[in-house]
Amino acid sequence: MGIYVHIPFCASFCTYCGFYSEVCRHQPAHSAYIEALKREIALRKDFFCSSGPVRTLYFGGGTPSLLAPELMADICDALRAGFDLSQLEEFTVEVNPEDVVSAGGDAMLEGFKKLGVNRISMGVQSFCDQHLRFMNRRHTAASAVDAFKKLRAAGFGNISIDLIFGFAGLTDAEWRSTLGQAVALGPEHISAYQMSLDPNSALADMAAAGKYAEPADESCAAQYAMLQECLERHGWHQYEISNFAREGFHSRHNSAYWTRRPYLGLGAAAHSFDGDALRSWNPASIEEYMKAPGVPEGSETLSASDIFNEQVMLGLRTVRGVERKTIEAAPYVKGRPLSETAAGMVAEGLLEESGSCYRIPRSRLFVCDSIIERLFTD
Ligand code: SF4
Repeated sequence: MGIYVHIPFCASFCTYCGFYSEVCRHQPAHSAYIEALKREIALRKDFFCSSGPVRTLYFGGGTPSLLAPELMADICDALRAGFDLSQLEEFTVEVNPEDVVSAGGDAMLEGFKKLGVNRISMGVQSFCDQHLRFMNRRHTAASAVDAFKKLRAAGFGNISIDLIFGFAGLTDAEWRSTLGQAVALGPEHISAYQMSLDPNSALADMAAAGKYAEPADESCAAQYAMLQECLERHGWHQYEISNFAREGFHSRHNSAYWTRRPYLGLGAAAHSFDGDALRSWNPASIEEYMKAPGVPEGSETLSASDIFNEQVMLGLRTVRGVERKTIEAAPYVKGRPLSETAAGMVAEGLLEESGSCYRIPRSRLFVCDSIIERLFTD
């Protein structure tokens, strides 16, 4: 079981981002939000019933590294009072490089250590200043490198960095150079995402106004292949469409999402899942959230068909794949057993058998969505 805590504050907005967050560095506003979060924690302490201790904790955003260390400590005290964290295996905090190298960076990292944070996820996105400016990131390539070294010096032995490819203006040579810099730093984990037009992002507005055009699919596919080849060659194993890790350093928290284990999402816009069929979500507005923390804005009960489709989609996005028995137990689709469809897809080279699973060959992971939807039931 995992807990996700959403910190919906940023110092500025990144061009491509559609996550719910507000531009706010005002500490009284942060404190008021944390008070609401603590009320939600107290109200939802029975979310996991008696299913056992929490294994992973993840602070994401927004920008958790904007919070003052005492506010982070406050949240952790409340979490410890509400949940059994005695067997926590992974405690991740997302950070912005600029916050790590800022004047308050040392105190922040010291605070993280005291709280038991054992994994840092840092949004680097690129090691090219021109691209960082286009993305409206706060940091430079040099400050990202400095931040990484500072994290290491502070004793963090499990660091993940995020990178972005597949945007207009990124040449193959520049992408290769960013990958080379990532490899040289040697983080334990690398997540790499293709830039997309999130409807809530400034980039989508730019595209609608004719000021941005996405690169061709073939160019994005070529950069994805470069990513796979480069990281595999240097010892990072791909375990999901966007995620690569050194042996033993896969993200336990995110892996729980992909295997449909229960998680509790706390804070504005956070989603929760009971591990079976019930999902709920908090309002994507700090103002609305603070009116009634702990009262989800909505919920849905997944049908048997929704659950099956989710198992297939999440499973096939991982390198392990989806259990063959899951496909074999599925109902007929359009008058045909789904296992026959899957066997046909193996013959076409869209799926391969691996142990007890079907999986998508690595060379086809870039187009996995079109493959996965052929196995959806109605
Ligand atoms: S990418 Fe991160 S830092 Fe940038 S706007 Fe989105 S949440 Fe904020």
